[in-house]
Amino acid sequence: MNQLKPSLMDFTLKELQEIVKPSFRAKQIYGWLYHQYASNYEEMKNIPKAMKEKLEKEYLVNPLKIVNKEESSDGTIKYLLELQDGKTMEAVWLKMKEEQRGDDGEITQEAKYTICVSTQVGCKVGCTFCLTAKGGFTRDLSAGEIVAQVVTLKRDNSHKHNRKLNIVYMGMGEPLDNLTNLAKAIEVFKEDDGLCIGGKRQTVSTSGLSTKIDKLGEMDLGVHIAISLHAVDDKLRSELIPMNKAHNINSIIEAVKRFPIDTRKRVMFEYLVIKEKNDDLGSAKKLVKLLTGIKAKVNLIFFNPYPGTDYKRPERKDMVAFQEYLVNHGLLCTIRDSKGIDISAACGQLKEKTEGELNG
Ligand code: SAH
Ligand code: SF4
Repeated sequence: MNQLKPSLMDFTLKELQEIVKPSFRAKQIYGWLYHQYASNYEEMKNIPKAMKEKLEKEYLVNPLKIVNKEESSDGTIKYLLELQDGKTMEAVWLKMKEEQRGDDGEITQEAKYTICVSTQVGCKVGCTFCLTAKGGFTRDLSAGEIVAQVVTLKRDNSHKHNRKLNIVYMGMGEPLDNLTNLAKAIEVFKEDDGLCIGGKRQTVSTSGLSTKIDKLGEMDLGVHIAISLHAVDDKLRSELIPMNKAHNINSIIEAVKRFPIDTRKRVMFEYLVIKEKNDDLGSAKKLVKLLTGIKAKVNLIFFNPYPGTDYKRPERKDMVAFQEYLVNHGLLCTIRDSKGIDISAACGQLKEKTEGELNG
């Protein structure tokens, strides 16, 4: 299929009101999409049939289909989703906090969730530790295909439209390499008549396309950024992330300093820890120096091995020593225990597994 059909989720409310008149109908459709999570026109009961037939010729409702799902004991659910052209990508439902109950058993605080979304099928960046990179690049996701991941996962988990959750752009692909569609998706998520997920609840993770970090900043969308730093010197970083040659560490740090961030918030630096590569205290020391003057928070990630990789998972004691060094030198630092480690948690792994099973 050459021509992909757009979906209703490609549009902000204002844009939809240009397509659907009178405008209250566009609002009703928005309700069907983002409050009822309708997946087809039939479900939209109060929309006139003729209007639906006309729209159906040009627009899909939800462009995604769930093809596989793996649930972990910690509440993480990993989804393999199929697009209209048969390509697949992943989204992950993460339980960040269990629900709290009072003595009488009543829920005092709802569980907290984050959805990790993909922005491309495959990725052009080619990081040597990343499974997504192995399959090369296939195509960008449209704004609607990004938005639909959240709608699909909310629907599958019966998560009410007015319950809050966070979005992290940390699935497959490099978000800033698909900036136009990313920015549109961010806007659609923010719509008051839609999912109403503010910029503060959205975090864009990037491998460090410094010029695009500036562009995202200029768009002033109010989102957070996370930088996948992973190394403190350009030699190792270029080995891990080949495009570091064009966007070196210094250019990234400078772009971060220019990025508009909420004064109460911090820029997240992701540091993927690989055994005997970057898990030493010398690296920790350089990291402290590098982040001086930035309101930063460091997230240490265990490298998650997969068949065929030479990189190794670090020892927990080295992770802890690394963390302690940073904390003792005034940096906020958390260790991300790979959620859903029992279900092929790192990006690209479910896709790889499912397609491996289907092909073999
Ligand atoms: N392309 C963007 C966002 C998607 S990658 C970026 O690179 O930031 C999301 C995260 O998954 C990155 O921080 C990346 O370092 C991490 N990741 C990739 N492969 C991994 C693996 N094998 N084990 C653990 N984390 C991995
Ligand atoms: Fe792309 Fe991110 Fe994987 Fe690197 S880590 S190949 S940028 S998805």
